[in-house]
Amino acid sequence: MEFSLTEKQKMLKKITRQFAEEYIVPIARESDEKQELDDKVFQKMKEMNYFGGCIPEEYGGAGLHNDTIGFSIIIEEISRADAAWGITTAVHNGVAAYPIYKYGTEEQKQKFLIDLAKGNKIGAFCLTEANAGSDAGGVQLTAVKDGDEYILNGTKIFATSGGIAGTLLVVAKTGEKESRKQMTVFIVDNKTPGYSVGVKEDKMGVRASNTSELVFQDVRVPQENILGNPGEGFKMAMKILDFGRIGIAAQCVGLGQAALEASIKYANERVQFNQPIGRFQAIQWKIADMSCAIESARLFTFKAAYLHDIGSEFGIASSMAKLVASEAAMQAAHGAVQIHGGYGLMKAYPVERYFRDAKMGEIYEGTSEIQRLVIAANLLKKGA
Ligand SMILES: Cc1cc2nc3c(=O)[nH]c(=O)nc-3n(C[C@H](O)[C@H](O)[C@H](O)COP(=O)(O)OP(=O)(O)OC[C@H]3O[C@@H](n4cnc5c(N)ncnc54)[C@H](O)[C@@H]3O)c2cc1C
Repeated sequence: MEFSLTEKQKMLKKITRQFAEEYIVPIARESDEKQELDDKVFQKMKEMNYFGGCIPEEYGGAGLHNDTIGFSIIIEEISRADAAWGITTAVHNGVAAYPIYKYGTEEQKQKFLIDLAKGNKIGAFCLTEANAGSDAGGVQLTAVKDGDEYILNGTKIFATSGGIAGTLLVVAKTGEKESRKQMTVFIVDNKTPGYSVGVKEDKMGVRASNTSELVFQDVRVPQENILGNPGEGFKMAMKILDFGRIGIAAQCVGLGQAALEASIKYANERVQFNQPIGRFQAIQWKIADMSCAIESARLFTFKAAYLHDIGSEFGIASSMAKLVASEAAMQAAHGAVQIHGGYGLMKAYPVERYFRDAKMGEIYEGTSEIQRLVIAANLLKKGA
């Protein structure tokens, strides 16, 4: 078993950290307040090829499609600076661009993937609806075949980057019944007539990331835009999320790491009772527990990434990584606010943002309850 990063992965970490420190950290608070990602960072992200993270170079990507540990490192470092940029990059790559690379036809890759990899278009994954959250099989958005096209009608909610996305993966119901065997994934261009962006959510955390309602009214999509096979959309959506959760886990690791570092710095600087608070065992134990939680989350994330890259089954590992990492981030952010005392609640310190951002990780791409359900169901099915 090898625990050290490759030279390339070390370099990715170093370069991404420098980039994130220089461009993202200084404006993270402002972006959170404005609820908007910064344009200048956007351009730099394009130049750095972060939107093509896990796409092969032949489609304009950075070629980390078979180095998911390298990809996780990028997401971790970006999220250490701002979890809103972390989720935007993770979702774009993990559940929009990568699935087109993995399951798409050559024609679809030429048509959609190249622009996604270059960041000319942002990708979104649209599964959730008002009545289909954890129970993703309850999708009601319909796609009815009409000649060589399908006509989409319905509304998606909570789509990350929905309001800024140019290419959307939309999970629709293609049969009469609400059945997992009657769903299909469509690639939809945002310029298609009948498509519009609805409400932009005003959220507690990752506020700079766009989360939107998306409306489909007689949206005609050619059948060649089906990703995979008709009727296999539910299975495909679950596979897409298996990979996506590695990115979310990495996002949570980065956020937790930021909370830990802020806590160490503050514990060394803040003096009470004539000594830095870091000398008090109560603070030391918090820091130790936060550090252990984050390190185990990182290892879980790398393991899921490794299993993916060697072609092994990685779905349960990615569920475990997402569960452990989101709860580690929450623990670290909670500890960070406590260590900062009253200042931890003030906007002047980033830990109040970390706290709000961390809560989100326990919800999106499957809640902690759903991860536990999936992990336990798998174990029980296998037996002792
Ligand atoms: C910021 C943000 C970004 C998001 N981005 C996307 C995106 O890009 N694309 C997309 O499709 N969706 C996205 N989502 C949606 C997200 O995946 C769902 O919110 C999530 O899966 C939970 O669904 P729900 O909100 O409907 O909660 P519900 O399913 O209504 O759950 C409510 C509560 O009940 C629990 N619960 C539900 N069923 C069970 C069960 N069987 N056993 C035990 N407990 C259960 C849940 O764990 C939760 O605690 C996003 C959400 C947020 C907040």
